Amino acid sequence: MSFSSEVKNEMLSVVNKPCCSFAQSYGFLLFGRSFSLKGVSLMTDYENLARAYEEAVRSLGGKSVRFSRSDAGRYTVLLPPGVDCRRVLSALGYDGSERRTRLNYANLRDECCRAAFIRGVFLACGSVTSPEKEYHLEFSISSKNLAVDFMKLFDAYNDLDAEQTFTLQPRLSARGGVYVVYFKDSTSIEDFLTLTGAQNAALRVMNAKVFKNIKNNVNRRTNFEMANLDRSVNAAAQQVDAIRRILRHNALSLLPEDTAQLALLRMQEQEMSLRELGEAMKPPMSRTAVNYRLKKILEFAKQFPDE
Ligand SMILES: [Zn+2]
Repeated sequence: MSFSSEVKNEMLSVVNKPCCSFAQSYGFLLFGRSFSLKGVSLMTDYENLARAYEEAVRSLGGKSVRFSRSDAGRYTVLLPPGVDCRRVLSALGYDGSERRTRLNYANLRDECCRAAFIRGVFLACGSVTSPEKEYHLEFSISSKNLAVDFMKLFDAYNDLDAEQTFTLQPRLSARGGVYVVYFKDSTSIEDFLTLTGAQNAALRVMNAKVFKNIKNNVNRRTNFEMANLDRSVNAAAQQVDAIRRILRHNALSLLPEDTAQLALLRMQEQEMSLRELGEAMKPPMSRTAVNYRLKKILEFAKQFPDE
């Protein structure tokens, strides 16, 4: 099951107060496939979503609503033109003569209803990408006016004086003749899902975020350790090369005794760290002392060119 349909299922299981139930139905119908005297309808791949829409149409007086399933498995719920269609529109404050359909704020009587309405809109035209893939939640809306009206609803949630504040700043873009209202950041998506009662889905977004952070940290650390390893391997290779040149010129005895001993040890133990080299010396030597002597060896070898 896609993350979108999981979210919708969770939203459909929310138990509404009567006022909110009305508001949710309003969002569901207004943002469906059509909402006019020519018919009120929704098309979807999900049967339970189609059934919930049918129920919403009936609850507003649309008794003649029809439910059908295509051979491809797509569901269409349609309230055809006629008396019932007029009745449903009128229950929501429309007479069908509107040149442009706008949002009727009178249907969102209480603050609680606003979240239910938004939930209805998501059920009708929303989708969300699985948070493991990317953070993206959108509403695909055919009318620009409705898209703009819908976006304004979120303003109230970003008000710092509000009882419960959310970060919900949707953006708008046009895509192939439809208007897309979308959220692109994980915080907005979490807040949106929490606001609309899809708590499990919100948790899944939070978990995905935690997991991504851990993965990024591990990668960053591994890269850092690899770079360090590269550096010490390169340094050891340079030292070994210098010592070879000194040996080739029989010049080892020209070095102080402990430095000469360290040079021989480095030739044998090319993978030892500075600390390990120091510990293997007799008597043992500090890391700083090892580092100092290896630098002297490199310096000393400069007089012996490659052959
Ligand atoms: Zn309410």
